Amino acid sequence: MKAIAGHCVITIDGPAASGKSSVARELARRLQFVYVNSGAMYRAMTWHILQNPGALQDPAAIAAAAEAAEIVCDLDQDQSRIRINAIDSAEHLRDPAVNEAVSVVSGVPRVREILVEKMRAYAAQHDLVMEGRDIGSVVFPSTPFKFYIDASPEVRFRRRAAEGQRDQIAARDEADSSRPASPLVIAPDAYVIDSSEMSIDQVVSEVMERLRMSGTPVARIL
Ligand code: C5P
Repeated sequence: MKAIAGHCVITIDGPAASGKSSVARELARRLQFVYVNSGAMYRAMTWHILQNPGALQDPAAIAAAAEAAEIVCDLDQDQSRIRINAIDSAEHLRDPAVNEAVSVVSGVPRVREILVEKMRAYAAQHDLVMEGRDIGSVVFPSTPFKFYIDASPEVRFRRRAAEGQRDQIAARDEADSSRPASPLVIAPDAYVIDSSEMSIDQVVSEVMERLRMSGTPVARIL
């Protein structure tokens, strides 16, 4: 039942502001798994590309910049961390400019290939909870532990606004769902949770219950 190279991978996909980051982080904490935020990896690459904004207009230039970048993915207290050309851009990842450009950068297939390889490398060494858009459908299609966290557009908009962020989540969702390269989809074998009326704790409990019922290797620590 284990996913890759003996390590267990739990995938949490869903649209922007569905609550998946909070759920994934808390789930990883309870299970003592490593938490990987794949969106942060696309955001860091976007911030890197934005240092030379002309590149944004041209997918070939984005791909070339991604190829030329030295990307180091490691951990900081059991959470993923990415540095590009030795720079940790964590404090910029929610900048409005990054929110606006990230779907353009993440839509470039070569960028996805490069970052997906880094994502899979985490699973060679650790049990993971990884969140994103295509983690269950493309990055770890054979893991049996797939969740898709959704919420109504109104609730998601309210959540993002409450965080004080300028983020066109509807436009981002449309771009992420309609792109040819690994679009946001619900993997056929994912367990779907609508979190519109639920607290983070309730969602995490439902995920844990589901894992318990599936008799997974995770059960050893539940
Ligand atoms: O999860 P978050 O909203 O931070 O993701 C930012 C962006 O990164 C998404 O809008 C999407 O364009 C991209 N992304 C992706 N595939 C993933 C995770 C994020 O394309 N697995």
